[in-house]
Amino acid sequence: MASNSLLWFRKGLRIHDNPALEHARKDSDHLYPVFIIDPHFMEPDSTAFSPGSTRAGLNRIQFLLESLVDLDSSLQKLGSRLLVFKGDPFEVLIRLLKEWDVKKLCFEYDTEPYYQARDNQLKDYASAAGIEVFSPVSHTLFNPADIIQKNGGKPPLSYQSFLKLAGKPSPPLATTVSSLPPVGNTRDYEMLRVPTIKELGYGDISQEEFSPYRGGESEALKRLKESLNDGQWVANFEKPKTDPSAFLKPATTVLSPYLKFGCLSSRYFYQCLDDVYKNAKKHTSPPVSLMGQLLWREFFYTVAFGTPNFDRMKGNRICKQIPWNDDDELLVAWREARTGYPWIDAIMVQLRKWGWIHHLARHSVACFLTRGDLFIHWERGRDVFERLLIDSDWAINNGNWLWLSCSSFFYQYNRVYSPVSFGKKYDPKGNYIRHFLPVLRDMPTEYIYAPWTAPLSVQTKANCIIGRDYPKPVVDHEFAIKECKKKMGEAYTLNRQMNSSASEESLKRSK
Ligand code: FAD
Repeated sequence: MASNSLLWFRKGLRIHDNPALEHARKDSDHLYPVFIIDPHFMEPDSTAFSPGSTRAGLNRIQFLLESLVDLDSSLQKLGSRLLVFKGDPFEVLIRLLKEWDVKKLCFEYDTEPYYQARDNQLKDYASAAGIEVFSPVSHTLFNPADIIQKNGGKPPLSYQSFLKLAGKPSPPLATTVSSLPPVGNTRDYEMLRVPTIKELGYGDISQEEFSPYRGGESEALKRLKESLNDGQWVANFEKPKTDPSAFLKPATTVLSPYLKFGCLSSRYFYQCLDDVYKNAKKHTSPPVSLMGQLLWREFFYTVAFGTPNFDRMKGNRICKQIPWNDDDELLVAWREARTGYPWIDAIMVQLRKWGWIHHLARHSVACFLTRGDLFIHWERGRDVFERLLIDSDWAINNGNWLWLSCSSFFYQYNRVYSPVSFGKKYDPKGNYIRHFLPVLRDMPTEYIYAPWTAPLSVQTKANCIIGRDYPKPVVDHEFAIKECKKKMGEAYTLNRQMNSSASEESLKRSK
């Protein structure tokens, strides 16, 4: 009897270092590589603040479709192809498993709560139906569950303690796939190729929302190679020292969207870095090195996996409870790049247009929205990032918003990024602002970061009247920062009191 395997792609959109693919192809007469367009992520939403689905903006959807086209093309070179379906993944899979008489089901392990729930449901079905399931950890360097177990059942809450537990990851798979078993009979299915964004019901992607980053494994490997070519740059890489305003040639690798979709294996990336370090006289180390950045990713995956309600304030035991404001007008001004602070607004335009911004740019706007100026809930900012980033990643995005809002991991709320002077350090002439906010193109350099301070005659000459062509600041930073620090101080005191009465209570109960 024929032995049929089904490989369900979700992330892990690659051929290299793909243990699920490796296992699926072994001893199989037919292999069905499947991707399911899940309405949970992809249903068009015309009420959302920017074109796209409820959870994803057009740039990320486009990036995903390009990654699928590339995957399909690679599979075709190996004698196979990608089969694309649309619908609830559980229902689609049950149908396919039955119709194709599948004996082996393979998919990459995923730590996100949404996939955990789905995957458990699917595993239960498969085991009852006598189908073998293989679900390896290959999205991350380590299995978060192993690290948590080594730490006595709790996730490590600092990067340094994480590093001590983590050790060295296992290497990527050494095998190169040269051919795949053929796809079996797939008749009777309507949609079997990668759709265009238009076919998905989104209309054309406009120039407004056009990211310069193209999706796919081929692009990921090319980008990795280009990044690592300069061994000196890799060996000297120090994260906080990179320039957030460099946009023509970003100061970091921009490999995050490829890691997010698994177009690039993190283990392969790690191994390549290790090789560069071996050939360098000296190199930087974690947390600031490039390898250190990959380990930040692991750190957040581990904490996210081991922390119930990681993506919210309420019910999240590692998150400070802070009485954030709920001011829709300010939130929208921030989201729509209308705060009146050019550094903040330029970043928000880049985010919307490109779907990627530098780490310190993320710091600037996240701090501004939360504890720096507007005192708006980090979950609201997280939602905007989740939608607009092409690298939007559940564990990393939530982890960094917790960090930046001083809700967890980092608690020095007195250290605030100035929306005026921070960017100036890197880009004194304001080229970044002039590019992303062309309305300020002719503003003289001395006013580019604070155009409301320019005399009216200067504004007139620059063709930009503040309050008419570009907004006045939505808050006075000097005033806002004092208010925010006061509120943070009060919230921290309250959290301390709540924690000490909670521990007294539990002490009493244990006696
Ligand atoms: P590089 O500096 O070249 O680093 C290489 C890789 O290391 C990155 O691709 C990424 O996978 C990982 N990495 C780097 N910095 C971090 C970090 N601080 N935490 C975890 N992993 C890291 N990154 C995402 O991938 N997805 C997100 O949704 C996301 N949301 C963020 C939200 C906020 C508020 C902040 C402050 C940061 C967020 N980051 C996120 C982390 C970081 O900004 C990006 O990973 C990084 O800027 C991506 O650019 P790069 O690939 O050039 O990074």
